[in-house]
Amino acid sequence: MPENKYRADVVIVGAGPAGSTAAALLAQRGWDVLMVDRAEFPRDKTCGDGLTPRAVAVLDRLGVLPALTSNGYQRINGALTVAPNGAVFHVRFGDLGLGLPDYGLVVPRFELDDRLRRHAMALGARFVAGLHVTGPLRQGDRVTGVEGQAGGQAVRVEAPLTIVATGASIGLLRPFGVLSQMPPTVNAIRGYFTGVPDLSDEFEFYFDRELTAGYGWIFPLADGRANVGLALFNWHRRDNREANTRRLLADFMARHPRLAAASPDGPVKGYPLRTDFPRYRSAGRGYLLTGEALGLVHPITGEGIDLAMESAEVAAAAADAALRSQDPGKEGPACYSRALAAAYGRFFRAVHVVERIATQPRALNRLLRKAPQHPYLARTLAGINLGVVSPWAAFYPRTWWEMFT
Ligand SMILES: Cc1cc2nc3c(=O)[nH]c(=O)nc-3n(C[C@H](O)[C@H](O)[C@H](O)COP(=O)(O)OP(=O)(O)OC[C@H]3O[C@@H](n4cnc5c(N)ncnc54)[C@H](O)[C@@H]3O)c2cc1C
Repeated sequence: MPENKYRADVVIVGAGPAGSTAAALLAQRGWDVLMVDRAEFPRDKTCGDGLTPRAVAVLDRLGVLPALTSNGYQRINGALTVAPNGAVFHVRFGDLGLGLPDYGLVVPRFELDDRLRRHAMALGARFVAGLHVTGPLRQGDRVTGVEGQAGGQAVRVEAPLTIVATGASIGLLRPFGVLSQMPPTVNAIRGYFTGVPDLSDEFEFYFDRELTAGYGWIFPLADGRANVGLALFNWHRRDNREANTRRLLADFMARHPRLAAASPDGPVKGYPLRTDFPRYRSAGRGYLLTGEALGLVHPITGEGIDLAMESAEVAAAAADAALRSQDPGKEGPACYSRALAAAYGRFFRAVHVVERIATQPRALNRLLRKAPQHPYLARTLAGINLGVVSPWAAFYPRTWWEMFT
């Protein structure tokens, strides 16, 4: 049973990839960090479990990559995308020359998140599980910590700086005054399956004919199982939000020649994805948001682990600077919002435009048919999906020339 009252330099709410990354970096810099989560760990997180090369780069900077690679998790050397008309586009990460590691990984979140949490604790962060944070503590307009419930008891955590890393769940963002209702989300669902033949070393994405408002995926696990799921774009069709994702996943699998005979290994679970960055405030007096709490998920691929960890690196730097200043509540938030805007603002504004055009079935059919014939087009497409090429490149004359000749 946790105590009723804690004090720390920084309290971090949420021990997903964003929270644990921020906790590790701030503990490493010598701050007294208290991370809390409503869940008991290890815990599952509904996810495709895919770590992009960009995520691998952050894991490497954090120092946890050797432990993951030596544990035999599935290495992913490329991606296969299939258009509604059957056009196939393969990309090998090592051929792209985008300055990223030449591989990704598939690591079940049950294991990844616990490893990141334990890494933060090994660096000195304290952790309290089973604490559901219900709102901020305030002095005037300044946040001075958080309060919540654990095992039926009220708990207070006082800290000059609070980092909110609560993912797509918006329950805590309301009392912080960041948003008042759930923004449009991507609906996604996934399960683990056995009996999927011919698993490769690629992330596989299928925009099949019946599924024009989203895509299905197959991500291989090292133990022979596959993480199979479905994502439905939030804007594509008005009825997507009400769609029965469980039925759509079953139908997608029944249509797919390699999935029709697969058997579920555990429950199939759905969860929303927030891709709305930079629509809401990222910080205020005494607090910062990081990871998916900012809506930082790639709207086309649904990848958010890389951005969660990267944005936590930015948050940790801002928190460190704020804690060293006279006024942690003031200095941190201002420089953090600027740093986030510089890192992700342009990309997200552009990708929200591009996703609406590039994920139309006719555009996908053409794009995925032409990309294998044109290295520039292939690199542009892969680079936008990996978040390292400006989505405006989709409108450059050379892109259009290669698509239409
Ligand atoms: C079906 C699906 C498939 C996906 N597939 C991929 C993929 O393959 N690759 C990829 O990169 N991304 C994927 N994503 C996105 C990815 O899961 C998220 O973007 C990522 O988990 C965000 O990390 P985070 O640390 O910000 O939040 P989370 O990982 O969601 O962690 C938030 C933590 O906060 C805790 N919390 C929430 N509210 C409170 C509270 N009030 N009090 C205390 N604790 C609280 C939660 O218990 C949780 O542990 C997928 C998402 C879905 C839904």
